[in-house]
Amino acid sequence: MDIKVPEQRIALVTGANRGIGLEICRQLAQEAIHTILTSRDQAKGQTARQELVEEGLDVGYHPLDVTEPESVQHLVAHLQQKYGRLDILVNNAGIAIDRGTGVLHTGLDTLRQTMETNLYGPLRLCQALVPLMKRQKYGRIVNLSSSMGQLSTMRSEAPSYRISKTALNALTRILATYLEGTDILVNSMCPGWVRTDMGGSNAPRSVKEGADTAVWLATLPEGGPTGGFFRDRKAIPW
Ligand code: NAP
Repeated sequence: MDIKVPEQRIALVTGANRGIGLEICRQLAQEAIHTILTSRDQAKGQTARQELVEEGLDVGYHPLDVTEPESVQHLVAHLQQKYGRLDILVNNAGIAIDRGTGVLHTGLDTLRQTMETNLYGPLRLCQALVPLMKRQKYGRIVNLSSSMGQLSTMRSEAPSYRISKTALNALTRILATYLEGTDILVNSMCPGWVRTDMGGSNAPRSVKEGADTAVWLATLPEGGPTGGFFRDRKAIPW
C-alpha cells in the first residue's frame, strides 16, 4: 500500500483555548507540525493562539464548537480549501458537569449534554475528517478519555462523565477496527489527574505531563498501536 508521512503534517486540536488542549497544541507545534488550535469562543481561542505564536510556534486558528454540526461543516470546508487534508485529530474538548452526583440523581439532560460534547462531538469530527485521512492514506486520531471511564475500576459518582468516557473508548475500538490495515491509527488516552479548570488546583500533574501521551499517540510511526487505551505511554485496562 502507498503509505507515507507527509512532509508537513497538519494537526487539529478541539477545545484548545486552555488546559490540556492548549498544551497539546504547544507540544505538537514544537514537533514542527502545523497545528490548528480550535475553540468555541473565538476571542479566547485567538488569545491562546497568540500566546503560542509569541513562543515562535506555527499555530493556526479556527472556531469550532464540537456540538454544532454547522460549525464542523465550516471547519471541514476551511481544511479542504486551505490544506486539502488533515493528518492528526485530537479530540480533547470535554465537559464534566455531574461531579458529586450519584447515579440515582443524575438528570438525563445532564447525561445528554455530556454525551453531546464528550461522545457525539468526537464522532461528528471523525465522520467529517476520516474521509480526508483515508484519501491520503495517513492519519492519527487521539481521543482524550479518562480512567473514570475504565470499566475495570468503575465507581458510582459522576455517572454522566464516566458513561461518556466509556462510550468514547468504545468509539476508539469501533473506529480502529473499521480502519484496520490502514495507516490511520486511533487510540484513547488518559492524561492522569491534571491541574486545569477541570482537574482543579490540587491535581498532582502539570499540563505538560498530561499532554505527553496524547502527543506521543498523535505522532506514532507507521505500524504503531491502534485501538488501545494508554496512560504514560503504556497500555492500561479498559
Ligand atoms: P478544561 O480545562 O475544562 O478544558 C476543556 C476545554 O474543552 C475548554 O477549552 C472548553 O472550552 C472546551 N470545550 C468544552 N465544550 C466544548 C465544545 N462544545 N466545543 C469545543 N470546545 C469545548 O479541561 P482539561 O482538564 O484541559 O481536559 C481536557 C480533556 O482531558 C477533557 O476531555 C477531559 O475530560 C480530559 N481529562 C482531564 C483530566 C484532568 O485531570 N484535567 C483527567 C482525565 C481526563 P471553553 O473554555 O469554551 O469552556
